[in-house]
Amino acid sequence: MLPTRLRTQKPLVSLVMPCFNEAEVLPMTYGRLIEAANHWDVAIEIILVDDGSQDETWTTIDRLARRDPRVRGVRLSRNFGHQAALGAGLSAARGEAIVTLDADLQDPPELIASMIDKWQDGFDVVYAQRNRREGETLAKRAACALFYRLLDRVNQVPIPRDTGDFALLDARVARTLLRFREHALFWRGLRCWSGFRHTAVHFDRPGRAGGRTKYTLSKLFGLASDGLLSFSTLPLRLALFLGLGFLGLTLLAVMIAALWSMVHAGPTAWPISGSVLTTLVLGSTQLICLGIMGEYLNRIYDEVRDRPRWIVEQTTPAASPQWNAADEQPPARMAG
Ligand code: UDP
Ligand code: MG
Repeated sequence: MLPTRLRTQKPLVSLVMPCFNEAEVLPMTYGRLIEAANHWDVAIEIILVDDGSQDETWTTIDRLARRDPRVRGVRLSRNFGHQAALGAGLSAARGEAIVTLDADLQDPPELIASMIDKWQDGFDVVYAQRNRREGETLAKRAACALFYRLLDRVNQVPIPRDTGDFALLDARVARTLLRFREHALFWRGLRCWSGFRHTAVHFDRPGRAGGRTKYTLSKLFGLASDGLLSFSTLPLRLALFLGLGFLGLTLLAVMIAALWSMVHAGPTAWPISGSVLTTLVLGSTQLICLGIMGEYLNRIYDEVRDRPRWIVEQTTPAASPQWNAADEQPPARMAG
């Protein structure tokens, strides 16, 4: 980034928002964004990625883009998931800094001013860290708390607790992240893995401004397992630890059986239910270990097939005309 005093123009900041069935809330989010952006000393572009919505989301995006040239819409050919939609948005962004945020106003646009300040102070990544979460069930808050603490323990690279995808990235960080070709996307983890200068801004996360959560339990589970398995091989070692643990228990059982037969004068005295129990415990442990290996195998298979991680079906007219819809990235990014 150029020092501010050498600039002739205001820097361009891209605001990237994945939207899945968000027609209800999108006009409100757009209004709040524009109102907040009026106070920033930067130029903006808003990139709205429609992640295969079935409601009026695309029509709303198209209408906003026709009215405001700062808005650009990218429509994916189906629902590829939040992380893929973020990737499509990052690829389309042309700004010197890129802010990724949710469409439901849970990531308050007003916080972006302090993110831009920190970026202009020289930080490459400014992530938003939640003090409190409102409007979420106790079960979800407990599951998230557990997940972040688990992630902290197993991850090779620490990921700050209670952070999500609400963050500002300098363009060179975004370009670096887009070079990562992995399919099990977990941007907040990749962001930390990539290094650069990071800092946090803190906020209380409000509830959704409208509509319902688009993260079903299975999507949430998928994201959590991608987060854990893409950044740690510890679960693979679990099989070894369990194996060693059960070997120890078996040796102990053999010794007890030997003592038992000495005391009761005959090996038949060893209770049969014990061996059934041992078989069951070992059988289920083996299945768990196989399952863990299967999860890694599944991911390796995904990587080897190397299918596109998202497909852009359509963009709003304001977007680059040379943009090939079948391509993930606009030409400007391919050079990087
Ligand atoms: N989202 C998406 N694709 C999906 C699920 C969600 O693009 O398959 C978007 C959604 O529109 C929102 C953001 O991801 O902008 C976060 O989703 P949501 O607010 O439903 O998640 P929560 O905040 O409840 O975890
Ligand atoms: Mg939300």
